[in-house]
Amino acid sequence: MTGKAEQAPRLIPTGECWCGCGRQATLGSFFAQGHDKVAESAIIKLEYGGVPQFLVAHGFGPGGRNAKWELRELLENPPSVRRS
Ligand SMILES: [Zn+2]
Repeated sequence: MTGKAEQAPRLIPTGECWCGCGRQATLGSFFAQGHDKVAESAIIKLEYGGVPQFLVAHGFGPGGRNAKWELRELLENPPSVRRS
């Protein structure tokens, strides 16, 4: 797999929702409930224009990488157990 999940930085919740709404996040969480999707949708719209453009920008979509298959592979082989 060529995903970047293995190199993702370790982040620490700050107590404030990271979507930008200014609300408090649930203890130990980055977001108020459901606001992770709010943030995700906003960034995809702002940076890519839409989900299809987002997929293609990362090599996914018809004729490209398969997000569903790669996610299954990641979930079955999480980075933390891939030490060699
Ligand atoms: Zn929020």
